Amino acid sequence: MRPLKENLYRAALWSMSAANLPRLTANRYSGIGAILSLHRVHQVESELHFGTRHLSITPENFRRMIMGLVERGYDFVTMSEVERRLHGDAPSTRKFVCLTFDDGFEDTYSQAFQICRWLRIPMVVYVATGALKRSFPMMWGIGLERLVLKNKEIQFRWNGTTQFLPAASVADKRRAFFLMVERFAAARPEEIRKASEEMRVRYGISFMELTEQHAITPAMVREMHASGLVEFGAHGISHVNLRLLDAAEARHEIAESRRDLEQVVGEEICHFSYPYGKADAAGPREYAMCRQLGLRTAVTSQMGNIVPADRARPHALPRLTLSGGYQDTSLLDLLLSGTLPRLATVLRKMTSARANLVHALISARRLPLPSFNGSRDALPDELADHVARFEEFVRPLRGDHRSDIAVLLNQQIGGAPDIHVRGHESILA
Ligand SMILES: [Zn+2]
Repeated sequence: MRPLKENLYRAALWSMSAANLPRLTANRYSGIGAILSLHRVHQVESELHFGTRHLSITPENFRRMIMGLVERGYDFVTMSEVERRLHGDAPSTRKFVCLTFDDGFEDTYSQAFQICRWLRIPMVVYVATGALKRSFPMMWGIGLERLVLKNKEIQFRWNGTTQFLPAASVADKRRAFFLMVERFAAARPEEIRKASEEMRVRYGISFMELTEQHAITPAMVREMHASGLVEFGAHGISHVNLRLLDAAEARHEIAESRRDLEQVVGEEICHFSYPYGKADAAGPREYAMCRQLGLRTAVTSQMGNIVPADRARPHALPRLTLSGGYQDTSLLDLLLSGTLPRLATVLRKMTSARANLVHALISARRLPLPSFNGSRDALPDELADHVARFEEFVRPLRGDHRSDIAVLLNQQIGGAPDIHVRGHESILA
């Protein structure tokens, strides 16, 4: 996410949640709980660490976030407990949160675990075993950060062609970084190995060494497991997008990473997290693979709370992402309330039926707040319901916060060029 949008998103979330705290948690979209998705608990040293910044929440904010959840009376659970609750055999009817950490960074042990151990909070850690076993340069993102930090121009060789990326200014560094990330994130394991090796030779930055420095170790995994607080899940070997692989390769990534992890933990591994995890990285084929391999649950990076209907799709569970931009504790209330994820989902679904969405937004434009009377009939039922609910949250907010939310909504729907902020402002103005 771009910094401006990120800031607006944060501001919007913050102001909404601050204005509506008690009501939000009682919201009917909050389901039975939520799986929170985190990557790193880490104090980012430089604004130029673009990728790390995106993945990190500071130790201080992490602690504050947990205390906020404790105060609000959530049960903290593991994925095994999430599965039990989906099947209705849980002693508690309180809402739950499950803290999940993807990838297996060293700070999952040195920061997150130390805090969780002290507070006796369970956590779930999904480990990419190529990093754990030091067999794959999985943390290439850190390497690319170093690369743009240290160079004014980057000679980027990819699949036989060379690109010269300017990297003198901050804006150029950012652009170069994300351009390379895009290539790496859409690459096959052997392409990543090859490009990493070329970077090592040309620039003296070893992505493998950086992975060795920053990845969790088997000893850390065993210590965390022995604490009884940490449940482990697999996250692929090389952390490549599974949908880019053929079926045998994708199955190998899932099954083999699970086996690797079982060897370290000394216990059956029953849970999986899809690398990247959005719809373009995990779909019905991958869900079926996890089911056939006998995994009990698998989580995506699709935004959503856990609702009883998720019982039917334990291998495609949604999560709420807490990394990067959203570090204010009170934002959590808004996410956990389920309203925002729900609205985003509905609007996104409607984007595929573009005509409906455009129609709905055009209709909505004529509906001023606070009264949504009359022309509400023009809205498809499902959207009307959500708009009404959303409107409830927005009503007490100041005008500038409302336009923040307009931007936020625009970004959530995304990808539909003829739908712009103006359309959303009109829902909210
Ligand atoms: Zn990951």
